[in-house]
Amino acid sequence: MPATILDGQKIAADIKAEIAEEVKSLAASGLRPGLAAVLVGNDPASEVYVRSKVKASEALNIYSEKITPPESVTTEEMLALVADLNRRDDIDGILIQLPLPKQVDAKKVLLAVSPEKDVDGFHPMNVGNLSTQRPGLVACTPLGCMEILKRSNIPIAGANAVVIGRSDIVGKPVAMLLLNANATVTVCHSKTRDLPAVCRTADIVIAAIGRAGMVTRDFIKPGATVIDVGMNRVTDPAEFKRFFAGNAKREQDFAAKGSVLMGDVHPEVAEVAGAITPVPGGVGPLTIAMLMSNTVKAAKLRRGVRMKSTARGNE
Ligand code: NDP
Repeated sequence: MPATILDGQKIAADIKAEIAEEVKSLAASGLRPGLAAVLVGNDPASEVYVRSKVKASEALNIYSEKITPPESVTTEEMLALVADLNRRDDIDGILIQLPLPKQVDAKKVLLAVSPEKDVDGFHPMNVGNLSTQRPGLVACTPLGCMEILKRSNIPIAGANAVVIGRSDIVGKPVAMLLLNANATVTVCHSKTRDLPAVCRTADIVIAAIGRAGMVTRDFIKPGATVIDVGMNRVTDPAEFKRFFAGNAKREQDFAAKGSVLMGDVHPEVAEVAGAITPVPGGVGPLTIAMLMSNTVKAAKLRRGVRMKSTARGNE
């Protein structure tokens, strides 16, 4: 039986509808969450990401502000900008779109963001809060993976979960969230021995590698759940054919655009997995929804507003 497709668009839409309600009830008490997005220079991919984040904020009636320092900005100027945003009461979330230009010390700038306004969840204080199960802000993509699992009724407690990838942005925080939810977690990386055998022990596989179609059917225990975080652009016609020959929709897209977006998971995995997220339309939409969720959460935490018991994330 082919895998159930876990529809990230639908789950993200449900979450956004809940957030819109929360924003409405906050407005009744005179509070409007605010998000500042700092976009340095003219990187086209970063511009697309920031545009979609600002658009999502507007749709939910979250105040948003785009700040666009020039490509030549210095570390000191970025630090001054962040200090100003940290001070402003109308800003609850600060998002520094990465990558920053080479001359800017990105670590220093990210560290300067107040942990209370760190809606990306990258600050060491928030990383520590996550690992010690204290309230705080958690990275958006890992939160999105958890929402997909929970809202699709995939059992997590007691499950064997294998995370492929150990980045600070995805692999490590998603492993910690799974552990906090009582999964038995294995974290794999480029030095892991016999990766397919390790993955075959998993009830849940999270692929966060950045290699198109690397996870093949021999990695997957029949019936396992597969969350594909990877976002890879395939431009080589031979590579495209290897993954998508005979897929009319993909062939049309490739002919029109000269490329397709695909995850780290080979399409053949859908024949063995129990459930799987598509790319696009899986984890991606959740990342933005969870950024919105974090902005509202930051606004509430900072002002001591009680969180709803049904709230998302590690509350
Ligand atoms: P990184 O490059 O920071 O990390 C990749 C990880 O994969 C590393 O830990 C690396 O191991 C591991 N890895 C690389 N090659 C192999 C291999 N052959 N076998 C086993 N492990 C391997 O990437 P990110 O975590 O930032 O992103 C991962 C993917 O997720 C990317 O495709 C990215 O575009 C996507 N992404 C998607 C988001 C979304 O919203 N959907 C958001 C963020 C990322 P090692 O540490 O040993 O080098």
